[in-house]
Amino acid sequence: MRNHRTILVTGGAGFIGLNLIQYFLGNHPHYHIINLDKLTYAANMTELEKLKAHSNYQFIKGDINDRALLEQLFSDHGITDVIHLAAESHVDRSIEAPDVFIQTNVHGTFTLLDVAKKHWLDMRNDQKCRFHHISTDEVYGSLGQDGFFTEHTAYAPNSPYSASKAASDFLVRSYFHTYGLNTVTTNCSNNYGPRQHSEKLIPTIIRKAVKLERIPIYGDGKNIRDWLFVLDHCRGIDLAFHKGKAGETYNIGGKNEHTNIEIATTLCGILDEIAPEYKKGTRISSYKELISFVSDRPGHDRRYAIDASRIEHELGWKAEEGFESGLRKTVEWYIHENQQSKPT
Ligand code: NAD
Repeated sequence: MRNHRTILVTGGAGFIGLNLIQYFLGNHPHYHIINLDKLTYAANMTELEKLKAHSNYQFIKGDINDRALLEQLFSDHGITDVIHLAAESHVDRSIEAPDVFIQTNVHGTFTLLDVAKKHWLDMRNDQKCRFHHISTDEVYGSLGQDGFFTEHTAYAPNSPYSASKAASDFLVRSYFHTYGLNTVTTNCSNNYGPRQHSEKLIPTIIRKAVKLERIPIYGDGKNIRDWLFVLDHCRGIDLAFHKGKAGETYNIGGKNEHTNIEIATTLCGILDEIAPEYKKGTRISSYKELISFVSDRPGHDRRYAIDASRIEHELGWKAEEGFESGLRKTVEWYIHENQQSKPT
């Protein structure tokens, strides 16, 4: 195994990227991390700023579609590995405006792969350099009441977001099979935890509750997602990055299936307990009273559930965070952030 690595992490100003860089800086202090991010609306500038303190870390603002910039980064910094997270990631936005999803998720991934191939294989013939692609379980489509997504499940993406991620997965696959690029892909279920953008389900529920606004839940609230605490995802990425077989894909999921309505009621219960002050003096006795059903999202997949046996058996990964404790940590983090951002 290489001791010295200069890893280009793309999308490191987003939810998972911020958590992953923090995790890598703590667990692999001898690596150098270059964070390339376009700083779209999804970037968290406050959290990004906190990473600056590390001497083995550097931030570059830029687009993964900018081939000239990528070429320069690979040459100037001697990039030895890529962990690719940069993406447009919100399903609702992909329904409204799919173009940028194709541009970033498909064309951006292609550009990154092609520059990596040129610098590592064509110029240096170094097959050890790793390209780790971060993807989603949404590429598999929707499940009925039973069954799980395995690495052999046929791709059946239903939203422009999942279709763009599926296309990027196939491009990664092709760069392994055609050129021998040392790729690995991880397909993960829904992440939750600190630093997630406020537009996603769990932060939305918390944000609306503390503002005493209606908590919108799509359709009948019975859509099921398999939730994973973001640090468990980071541990899975760490293992697959270092030990995953070249060309292989690994599913990562927490065996934590919950309906959206269960998530909302659990979060409201935690908020009732640890943050009752926001409803003090109002007619609301529980934040649960704010939950309200809204028209369903078009093409809304009913159920996702991951079979993570491959990464468990082959790489020794296991989800460590309990669901209730993970949600509690998440709520505590958002309440703390909410208090910090209030004018004094
Ligand atoms: P996010 O939306 O929070 O962050 C994405 C980051 O990518 C942002 O900082 C954004 O500025 C950056 N970015 C967007 N376009 C870019 C471009 N053209 N060039 C450079 N940077 C660009 O997303 P996230 O939730 O952290 O997800 C990260 C990755 O993990 C994505 O690839 C996503 O598909 C995948 N994933 C996410 C989840 C989840 O539950 N959040 C689950 C499975 C897989």
